[in-house]
Amino acid sequence: MKTSLTQRLASVHERIQNAALACGRAPETVRLVAISKFHPISAVREVYDAGQVDFGESYIQEALAKQDESTDLAIAWHFVGKLQKNKAKFAVGRFALIHAVDSLELATTLERRASEHIVQDILIQVNLAREPQKSGVMEEKLDALVEGILELHQVRLQGFMVMPPFSDDPETSRPFFRRLFETRERIGREFGINLPHLSMGMSGDLEVAVEEGATLVRVGTDIFGPRPVV
Ligand SMILES: *Cc1c(COP(=O)(O)O)cnc(C)c1O
Repeated sequence: MKTSLTQRLASVHERIQNAALACGRAPETVRLVAISKFHPISAVREVYDAGQVDFGESYIQEALAKQDESTDLAIAWHFVGKLQKNKAKFAVGRFALIHAVDSLELATTLERRASEHIVQDILIQVNLAREPQKSGVMEEKLDALVEGILELHQVRLQGFMVMPPFSDDPETSRPFFRRLFETRERIGREFGINLPHLSMGMSGDLEVAVEEGATLVRVGTDIFGPRPVV
């Protein structure tokens, strides 16, 4: 029998729970963000009906279209992809969390575009592996970016996000996850701020991410199956 989305979701929850318990963390300190990019709204509905609340998208048009198709559901939408500056106005106020802010220009644009009472929660994506094709701020520019963002009033920094280089071996991701955790501790200390979130871990390496302190894991394939080729 074909495995249902409900079963796949349950097995991802079980993996998170086992990884958390194995390292002495309370499983509820890790939130699962179901990454639904390229999957139809019908799949989102099925996973929502199975109890999933947080969903993430990587492309702004697709994300907004899915939001419009699911106004009857109490979904917390996350934006996990690269947000172009000229698309920031469409994103602000429409996502519980924007995971991949990597420049002060983008943060400032979000601030300028936010209507009066909106506070947009964000994470900074850090390009710890220094991959030229990947987004994320380089480590040596991180402190200045944090400093700049802390001066904004309608953009609230909640932590950091990382996407390690692609690998079949989850252990390859560990040093990047550990480095992100240490960075969060250091920045929190030096700036005297509380940064609750670390967004790290995907289908292939979520256990390692949980062991290294992830509070948000972003899982697509292991919930929805392989993404259709577009
Ligand atoms: C697509 C995507 C994911 C999900 O990856 P899977 O390997 O399918 O779990 C996670 N994070 C980001 C930023 C993505 O773009």
